[in-house]
Amino acid sequence: MRIVLMGAPGSGKGTQSQRLVEYFGIPQISTGDLLRSAVARGTEYGMRAKAAMDAGLLVVDEIVLGIFGERLAEPDTANGFILDGFPRNIAQAQALSKLLGTLKTPLDAVVLFEVNYEEIIKRISGRRSCQTCGRVFNVYSAPAGSAPHCDKCDDKPVLVQRKDDEEETVRMRLEVYEQQTRPLAKFYRDQGLLRTIDAQDSVEQVTARLIATLDSLPAAKPLRNARSKAS
Ligand code: AMP
Repeated sequence: MRIVLMGAPGSGKGTQSQRLVEYFGIPQISTGDLLRSAVARGTEYGMRAKAAMDAGLLVVDEIVLGIFGERLAEPDTANGFILDGFPRNIAQAQALSKLLGTLKTPLDAVVLFEVNYEEIIKRISGRRSCQTCGRVFNVYSAPAGSAPHCDKCDDKPVLVQRKDDEEETVRMRLEVYEQQTRPLAKFYRDQGLLRTIDAQDSVEQVTARLIATLDSLPAAKPLRNARSKAS
């Protein structure tokens, strides 16, 4: 199953992708994570992407498509993938259609997460991530009194706030979303691929809604069969 999760920064795409990875057994491809990793490793792509990322702007398509193409070529994408944060403008969406068309593996659905901006600002200000495993946490939804440490890594590293989650940069990222990414909803609606879900509620409620939407797709059937054979 090949799906795209789209929505404003902070709408929950990353968190829900992690849930879908577990449920469907297909990988998440987050261009944001790939770019952050390239920056941390000091690769050429990373060095060229850093300034745009720090400013909350989109990284140029050439870099994003390069980094995405490399990831898509890895063998774990054979049964499908969850795209998180890609495509983010019409040119990227067209390039993706072309690439998947050549591979004869078209998208099955694009899910748009709807969340109001007040909630988004609150979520982003509470967002922290683990620099070791990349998992995303939220100080508002963490159990009361728990320390801001990653409970998935053995050495329990302290969680950190992403630089581009600071308020001013978030405002810029929301503006970029409205101008460049939101128009993709029409692009995919016109192709009959768009599903919209209300992503305002708790993580569990949104996961249930998302899984119900995706489980009804024909492409979910082989993954369901593989899961029941394994259990
Ligand atoms: P994210 O983690 O998806 O919010 O992405 C963090 C930052 O990485 C964005 O604000 C952009 O600067 C950059 N980025 C991630 N994905 C893309 C993309 N598909 N196109 C352009 N820039 C991207």
